Amino acid sequence: MNLHEYQGKDLLASYGVAIQRGIVASTLEEAIEAYKKLKEETGTDYCVVKAQIHAGGRGKGGGVKLCKNVDELKTHAGNIIGMMLKTPQTPGGMEGPGKLVSKVLIAEDSYAPDFSACKEFYISILMDRESKRNVIIYSTEGGMNIEEVAEKTPHLVHKEFIDPVLGLQAFQSRKIAFNLGLSGKSFKEMTVFITSLYKAYLGSDASLFEINPALKTGDDRIVAVDSKVRLDDNALFRHPELAILRDTTEEDPTEVEAKESDLNYIKLDGNVGCMVNGAGLAMATMDLIKQSGGSPANFLDVGGTADAQRVEKGFRIILKDDNVKAILVNIFGGIVRGDRVAQGIIDAYKNIGDIRVPIIVRLQGTNAEKAKSLIDASGLKVHSAVQFKEAADLVKQVLK
Ligand code: GDP
Ligand code: MN
Repeated sequence: MNLHEYQGKDLLASYGVAIQRGIVASTLEEAIEAYKKLKEETGTDYCVVKAQIHAGGRGKGGGVKLCKNVDELKTHAGNIIGMMLKTPQTPGGMEGPGKLVSKVLIAEDSYAPDFSACKEFYISILMDRESKRNVIIYSTEGGMNIEEVAEKTPHLVHKEFIDPVLGLQAFQSRKIAFNLGLSGKSFKEMTVFITSLYKAYLGSDASLFEINPALKTGDDRIVAVDSKVRLDDNALFRHPELAILRDTTEEDPTEVEAKESDLNYIKLDGNVGCMVNGAGLAMATMDLIKQSGGSPANFLDVGGTADAQRVEKGFRIILKDDNVKAILVNIFGGIVRGDRVAQGIIDAYKNIGDIRVPIIVRLQGTNAEKAKSLIDASGLKVHSAVQFKEAADLVKQVLK
């Protein structure tokens, strides 16, 4: 689950990480209120208006605007609230429809008064699966597209791996501050920044923190100007105060619906829908579809209890995707009996009524043969298979 920038910053601040201060607003009136309040705190007229959507590159799309006074604030906040913001990271990129902005963050101008005395850094923390360790990735080339920096100037992207037993060591945060070219007060500030950032990452069971930019201000403080936070869904039960921050309007509506029915669904961009029980079998099924010349339209694990209701819900969810040209059902009857599942499929087919694509069903395991004869006798346009290979050939056939 991803957090909005303002939510991520609140989380960081609760662990003592220095952030660019700001107040969130949903309407123009709230934005003006926030501006006045912030001005009292900062003592300056300057501020930035920042669109709150789950995508980076907002600056490039016009979602981050600097304001020198209340009139500029009114103009920019008025324009940004309610706009469809296109960034290189919103679906379809700059050519896509963009994302609706329903909140803005009115933030202090951390670069004032002397923009040229500031320096932007890139800092992220994530899990490195290869080394099985958390890694802090950092660079002096902050504020820009880090993928591009990594491609063109890989020597400017550094990595610091954290031993899971020892944790982040003091020498490691000093090394990071040193490699970022800091000295004196900003050096000390950076070590504190890194230490508290890592604490926040562990404490919130995050899977990604990306601070781009982390800023060295004119007076040598280090502050998080931006925050991208991704939390581990599987650990959310330990953080009810974070779980409530989920913004489902930012997520794929079909995925949200599936989650409500406790189905494990992830939308992909292929043409063969799949319904499988068990994540391992689902992965194997996706491979099978690829080998048959198709490409999976989704990952869907209906779980161990593939009963009629879940099968029907699964069909309905898969069919919401217009790209789907065929559906492959691959169920292994272990505890669940194959003939029950077959009956579930037949019932679901009849209930839904207008299934517009061919369905290939492979039921293996307990009562597999009985399941096959039920489907064959149903008179429905369902192709049944028992072997993996048979199912693959059927997929190939119907895609022709
Ligand atoms: P992103 O484009 O979605 O990554 O949003 P950021 O929060 O990173 O903001 C984009 C850019 O706006 C930053 O890289 C900065 O250059 C600029 N920016 C953000 N906050 C401020 C600020 O307080 N003052 C000034 N002058 N520029 C800012
Ligand atoms: Mn950024």
